[in-house]
Amino acid sequence: MSEIESAPAVPGGRFTTTRMKRVEVRNVIIIGSGPAGLTAALYTGRANLKPLVFEGDGFEETTPGGQLMITSEVENYPGIYKYSISTDENNIPLAKIEEFLTGPEMISILRTQAQHFGAECHYKRVEEVDFSCRPLRVKVDGENHFAEAVIIATGASAKWLNLPSEEEYKNFGVSACATCDGALFKGKDVMVVGGGDTAMEEATYLTRHCKSVTIVHRREEFRSSRIMVDRARENDKIKWLLNSRIVEILGEKQGFRKFVTAVKINNLKTGQDEVVPTDGVFVAIGHKPNTEIFRGKLDMDELGYIRTRGRSTVCNNSNGEMTAGVFACGDCQDHVYRQAITAAGSGCMAAIDAERFITANPILYGIESEDSQSYVKLMERVSIAGGREKSGQP
Ligand code: NDP
Repeated sequence: MSEIESAPAVPGGRFTTTRMKRVEVRNVIIIGSGPAGLTAALYTGRANLKPLVFEGDGFEETTPGGQLMITSEVENYPGIYKYSISTDENNIPLAKIEEFLTGPEMISILRTQAQHFGAECHYKRVEEVDFSCRPLRVKVDGENHFAEAVIIATGASAKWLNLPSEEEYKNFGVSACATCDGALFKGKDVMVVGGGDTAMEEATYLTRHCKSVTIVHRREEFRSSRIMVDRARENDKIKWLLNSRIVEILGEKQGFRKFVTAVKINNLKTGQDEVVPTDGVFVAIGHKPNTEIFRGKLDMDELGYIRTRGRSTVCNNSNGEMTAGVFACGDCQDHVYRQAITAAGSGCMAAIDAERFITANPILYGIESEDSQSYVKLMERVSIAGGREKSGQP
């Protein structure tokens, strides 16, 4: 029997030989730190798995905290707001809302809670992954990190118009999330940019709050499904500016505050520019899942959203086979609900799936040779010796 095959199991997954480099195998690495990633960190932390979280570094769509970092007040995350409690005449507690938290405040609270239970968080971006054998490999700053399980929570990024004025008024009248920010525009006139299902859905939702909603779309035909366009057409509060694109967002500044007051619209048929007053602009031209580093390694739909198995968070590889130990949660695998609370819920599911996987499939030891090619070969030998590869997934 070779030196490797005869190596003893070592708690914590450490193993050293003269030929091999000593490496640490973590229980779980979490990629991403929106509500999905931080909830997965909280749950795996409480399961005593000491999760290592790579939050992103702000480059290449890896914003630590994710989309909540560009959200103002979060009014729809159940139970999270500043409150005071009094009691009624029967001594029953009565909560009073004092103030809602902003997205960045919520992320800070979630991160602190995860860290309290042992999560180790780093503002670093994952450059590369190798899920072809166990332990799973995640490369950060040129350094390899190994884990028994990886939870992917890289989220999605809203697509923007990429106008300098859009950047200037983001969060001050320009938003990419009607559900998050619509209630801030009560009784106001707003615009929604786009002609897909998201634009129709956001516009229809916004009519609950706003005086009027104008859909600005660059064509006459819609990418959106017929039923959703018809629903929008039947809504008296919705107006249409077709064959049009916004070329500039105009506003006013008062001290630290800024307001959108109008947009400059270019008519693509006549070429004419026109200034149209509005109080807000919702950009709804699609989202892009942040899954580029997993392309070719995991099963994804045509839009790049990771496909998971059934109601679990378990991933398949690009051949449709189960990828042992890899789980996905949050917006990187969900283009339907896309809410902080649904992302957090799926982060909890991923943590439970990962914990069960680790319990059912312990790795005996972690090893890495000096060159990556022999690393793969050695891992194959280890998995044959361990006889546990790709089994017992939840
Ligand atoms: P889509 O890609 O379907 O639509 C994007 C829209 O934005 C298109 O009309 C496109 O115009 C327009 N657009 C893109 N880039 C620009 C730009 N730079 N300037 C101006 N307009 C632009 O994205 P959605 O987010 O709407 O939908 C994504 C997926 O999610 C779809 O599969 C959709 O069906 C699904 N979805 C389903 C929902 C539901 O069933 N309830 C709700 C929301 C989404 P053009 O058409 O000219 O290319």
